[in-house]
Amino acid sequence: MGIKLYNTLTREKEEFKPLEDNTVRIYSCGPTVYSYAHIGNFRAYIFMDTLRRILKYNGYKLKHVMNITDVGHLESDADEGEDKMEKAARKENKNPYEIAKYYSDIFFKDMKRLNIDEPEIIAKATEHIPEMLKFVEGLVKNGYAYETSKGIYFDISKLDKYPVLSNRKIDEQIAGARVDVDEEKRNPYDFALWIKAPENHIMKWESPWGLSYPGWHIECSAMGRKYLGDQFDIHTGGIDHIPTHHENEIAQSKGLTGKIPAKFWMHVEFLQVDGGKMSKSLGNTYTLDQLQEKGIEPLAYKLFCFTAHYRTKLNFTFEIALSNQKALNRLREGFVKHQEAEENVPEEKIKEYEDKFLEIINDDLNIPTAMGLVWEIIRNPQKSKQYAQLLLKFDEVLGLDLINSKKYLDDAQKVELPEEILKLVEERKKARENKDWALSDKIRDELKEKGYIIKDTKEGMNIEKEIN
Ligand code: AMP
Ligand code: ZN
Repeated sequence: MGIKLYNTLTREKEEFKPLEDNTVRIYSCGPTVYSYAHIGNFRAYIFMDTLRRILKYNGYKLKHVMNITDVGHLESDADEGEDKMEKAARKENKNPYEIAKYYSDIFFKDMKRLNIDEPEIIAKATEHIPEMLKFVEGLVKNGYAYETSKGIYFDISKLDKYPVLSNRKIDEQIAGARVDVDEEKRNPYDFALWIKAPENHIMKWESPWGLSYPGWHIECSAMGRKYLGDQFDIHTGGIDHIPTHHENEIAQSKGLTGKIPAKFWMHVEFLQVDGGKMSKSLGNTYTLDQLQEKGIEPLAYKLFCFTAHYRTKLNFTFEIALSNQKALNRLREGFVKHQEAEENVPEEKIKEYEDKFLEIINDDLNIPTAMGLVWEIIRNPQKSKQYAQLLLKFDEVLGLDLINSKKYLDDAQKVELPEEILKLVEERKKARENKDWALSDKIRDELKEKGYIIKDTKEGMNIEKEIN
């Protein structure tokens, strides 16, 4: 059964087939490691991971590159402002390499917490300077690039078409956009390939144009080409990459190789917070740690991301995220019930679910609908180990770590109980020993009011903290 993916380049859902053999070659724009990654960034990586998992589920092998931008990403995508790494280094009184190491270590830890599989190749920009320089030299040689006092610029007028990815007309862009007026540039939308370093710039390398550093776009073009060749299957990123970063990547590759580097260009829509934009100034660029402090696990955030298709906006509020934490617990409980049941389900029923799931996920990653199917199985009154097996198979795509459901539930119950609660639990035990049911119920209500739920089981009393 074929996979259909939406391609920003053609603005259509297209049948996907790898260009070569059974291996899918993917390039994903990775983080700029100057600060903590926020939940908006992680929506992009959850999307990237789901795409990987679906391709694998369909039997494909992967060669997937994700870059780490540790130099050259200026404050604005249109070559304005300072290098984000240098700015962070100055602010934190550290070396930019220390900044990069600190934030990338945390980024990869967070990726693990979200059960995101690491791409086969992680490529740091600072470790690929020779490849980038060669790329730029090639563009100069081909007549697509020229030198100014600031650096080496790409001449967009040399292309047959620019832009090709965004459907905006260049005249509209020029009229409405904020591009710096640089007299030395041949066209307002020419962009920096290589930037001459000011005296106090720490990250800089020898080049034919003196001490300098790469622009952000050339990093991805050069690293993608090194590992995946002149043309590969899929390029991913957030929708913010469409008008500048990816447009410019395409321009550079066309200038050097004559080819658009990827066949499919896939973009994930933005996460919003409280119905608006996420921004540092609004203080709403939350990290996974900040969610965890409020009782929302990283995997509950992932489940929340699964409530919307990757090409639609998703609005984050703590209230909705907390309800997803509860849903995650219910999902785990439902899974364990199936796991512990013996009843048999007809093979055809399982096959029917498998086919349906595959059809749904292969329709441009329709995870919200796939989750509907998962909930249908969870809620099925007929409990069966075979359903648990089926859910584990689906979890190869979802990556919700369902296999460890029991452990998560047990751990959640092992919460340290405050002294006051322990005392009430003891009093209730005594009341029950004395068959004082009225007192027992009264204490149970009191505990509920304080956020603790008592469940009487055959093995004794269970106490759980209510989430929220
Ligand atoms: P950066 O580290 O700023 O280069 O961004 C890393 C990734 O996160 C890019 O693919 C961005 O497109 C993506 N991204 C940034 N903000 C959001 C957001 N609010 N929602 C979804 N993706 C985002
Ligand atoms: Zn990129």
